[in-house]
Amino acid sequence: MKLETIQDVFESELFDMYDAEHQLTKALPKMAEKSTSADLAQAFSSHLEETENQVARLEEVFQILGLKEKRETCKAMKGLVGEAEHMIGKIEKGPVLDATLITLAQKVEHYEMASYGSLRELAKQLGYDQVVTLLSETYDEEKGADEKLTALAEEHINDDALLYRRAA
Ligand code: FE
Ligand code: FE
Ligand code: FE
Ligand code: ZN
Repeated sequence: MKLETIQDVFESELFDMYDAEHQLTKALPKMAEKSTSADLAQAFSSHLEETENQVARLEEVFQILGLKEKRETCKAMKGLVGEAEHMIGKIEKGPVLDATLITLAQKVEHYEMASYGSLRELAKQLGYDQVVTLLSETYDEEKGADEKLTALAEEHINDDALLYRRAA
């Protein structure tokens, strides 16, 4: 289907994120399971709960806009999740994997921040005020998740991983 108007693009990108969030409801439990550090596992579990709310929030957006909910495959998220699975498959459970899980998850959060940040701006300009509020809530959760991961890396996870440094 050809996208002719800016609304067509906006809607298509909402359907893309609706798929991306569904992909993440499958990926986040695996990330939690692979975490050795309890606070990292907790961060993934609590972001899973937020992600489930984000799916519901997008359904609210579709309802407000009078759109039938639809998943359009987010190839970018497929790529990020596929790359994460590939890396996870090559690393034993432990501190090195924990530090790696943070790098992989932050790529996902940044993709989501870019997506929701752009969608929120478009919604603003299109005059969809209620939608702006909903997209902002999700954007803030993605940013919060990213910041939480940075804090965990700085607090102890990267130090723990550095115990497994190759000898100079
Ligand atoms: Fe999300
Ligand atoms: Fe996408
Ligand atoms: Fe997220
Ligand atoms: Zn900690």
